[in-house]
Amino acid sequence: MENNRHKSICPYCGVGCGLDVNVVNNRIAEVKGLKGYPVNDGDICALAYDLPEVINAEGRLKKPLVRKEKGLTEVGWDEAVSFAAGKLNDIISKYGPNAVAFYGGASNTIEEYYLMNKLMKGLIGTNNVECSTRLCMSSTSIGLVSTIGTDAPPCCYADIELADLFFIAGNNMAVSLPIIFKRVQNQKEKGAKVIVVDPRKSQTAAIADMHIQIRPGTDVALNNAIAHVLLKDGYVDEKSVELYCAGLADLKKHLEAWHPERAAKITNVPKEQIIEAAHAIGKAKSMLTFWFQGYNHSSQAVFKNNTLHNISLLSGNFSRPGAGPLTINGEANALGNRWVGALSTLLPGMRSVLNYEHREEVANYWNTQVDKISPTPGLSIIDTIKGLHSGEVRALWVCATNPAVSLPNANWVEEGLKKADLLIVQDIFHPTETSLLANVVFPATQWGEKTGIFITSERRAELIEKIVDIEGDAKPDYEIIQMVANAMGFKEEFAYNSPEEVFEEFKGLTINRICDMGGVTYDRLRAETGPQLPCPALDHKGTPRLFNDYNFPRLDGRAALLARNYIEPAELPNEKFPFILLTGKSAAHFNTRTRTGRLQHSKNNSKTNYISINPVDAKRMGIAENDKVEAESKRGKVKGVARVLDKTREGVIFMNMHYGDLLGVGKGMLANLVTNNACDMHSKQPELKFCAVNISKIKN
Ligand code: SF4
Repeated sequence: MENNRHKSICPYCGVGCGLDVNVVNNRIAEVKGLKGYPVNDGDICALAYDLPEVINAEGRLKKPLVRKEKGLTEVGWDEAVSFAAGKLNDIISKYGPNAVAFYGGASNTIEEYYLMNKLMKGLIGTNNVECSTRLCMSSTSIGLVSTIGTDAPPCCYADIELADLFFIAGNNMAVSLPIIFKRVQNQKEKGAKVIVVDPRKSQTAAIADMHIQIRPGTDVALNNAIAHVLLKDGYVDEKSVELYCAGLADLKKHLEAWHPERAAKITNVPKEQIIEAAHAIGKAKSMLTFWFQGYNHSSQAVFKNNTLHNISLLSGNFSRPGAGPLTINGEANALGNRWVGALSTLLPGMRSVLNYEHREEVANYWNTQVDKISPTPGLSIIDTIKGLHSGEVRALWVCATNPAVSLPNANWVEEGLKKADLLIVQDIFHPTETSLLANVVFPATQWGEKTGIFITSERRAELIEKIVDIEGDAKPDYEIIQMVANAMGFKEEFAYNSPEEVFEEFKGLTINRICDMGGVTYDRLRAETGPQLPCPALDHKGTPRLFNDYNFPRLDGRAALLARNYIEPAELPNEKFPFILLTGKSAAHFNTRTRTGRLQHSKNNSKTNYISINPVDAKRMGIAENDKVEAESKRGKVKGVARVLDKTREGVIFMNMHYGDLLGVGKGMLANLVTNNACDMHSKQPELKFCAVNISKIKN
């Protein structure tokens, strides 16, 4: 019996835990935490522990499928690739390059996204390349760019052990980032304090020294009032702040009106608690801030980010070990994919399509004309769906993600996907709710079966390697992209023999930039713990923290303090839809359950979706525990089973986001049937966490 151990990185959330993987007879038999790895030191959560069952689960797609008269039909690779490439070329020649769009998952490797960017932005001539990081971190990205001039998270996980205050807002990290949460808990046991801002009494709020149970969506008002108190009560060293921040005078003027009494009325947080929180921040030696989808799934997401950074900057909690914004992504390679250009505004190497010099640098590197790269941002994924409805977009290529479940206003999304002249889906499993609608389905390999680089949330580059061979004809995503590109006529430009060759080409676009990977090679990543970027040379140890010299990549080198006003969420409760619906993650599942829904314990336990409702509301609505209930918004209806819990305030209900029609729970349990596709105007991130609904008991 052949038995081998391999180092890898977890393919789920953006924490990037190191894994010790045991392969027996070409099957992944066991996954443990990698001892001594700086992120998790041997610890992992249940998602990673269950990887062997997911990898070997039934439902793997083994052959390409093309839709024929009788539906999706198994074909050979040549036929599937030539069909997809031919249709793409037809659509481009008939409607122009912007009639095609790509949407991938944030667990794709940087090599895969590099190829897709080169194909779409450099050769076809459209910027319509999107990534599921649009649903997760695009507001964090724009928040950092507007405040410090770059999408480069400044902190690292080692800051957790140096902090004495954690400000955790809109982030149920006990469920979504459990390994980081344990490190926070350990630091709390050593005396650090924890402030949690959350409209729910979440598992994370349960450990808080102060739980601020805010009215959903009102964080900008809270943050402004905290900043007001910091300034008014003498916690801001204004002379120092002015050395590294621009905009203090304007912000002070703006914040004069944001006294705690005003914020208390908007947020439903007592003014005394706002003042107490501000004083705790003012007195802290080193404060780390964590935020997540409670901020980002919002029509005011970027302003929430900016006003949180204002607090850190004003209180001197930035650019110091143990202090600053510690942003952690929802998916494994979300940061890497932004840095390789996987949003419709970006180009590889942290460049922008709006910047002529950036377009010129990339075009020269790709040996193409600068005019080939469009100066116009491509469509966000929500605008892509709108484009499918209007006919502006005719073809969508989906890779390693499941937009029929993950996007808001799911009925509208499904109608849009059905209108596509061509829907290509690359996935490891079939059916998914999206692959069922496809014209072509390509079978892809997954983590453990392919090789490429992830860049995790603390800017750490790591290699995931192919450690098992697969049965069937599935291929790595980068190879499928190359095959389609070749069949479209781009043979010379796509002549790679390995993902390593793709990486070496991408690396050239990172040199002298914050994402500098000049010192990264596959061999180095095999031999040692991956370095944190930038890492410009082979003998460079990597960069754990950024901007500790208080020099930010903005014109005058200073960070921006930004005066932001609170605006209400896009849709407010009203007479017909009097409740606010919040959505969130469960510990047992990842995103749309394409993988975790195949676990046996999940099949046994996930028979329904729950809708939790406050006891006062439940009594008023005649709803009891375990009643079948239905929530309705302007966009649709979702069913669930009532959980009567004192977790949310009156008027606020909550449900998990994961449950599409397939894999167990049945039709009509998907929260996104009712959620709102309104977006933050700066980040184009949809307001997945706030919509107006009514709830009623389903009469049998
Ligand atoms: S915390 Fe995230 S990276 Fe770590 S094992 Fe769990 S899912 Fe994987």
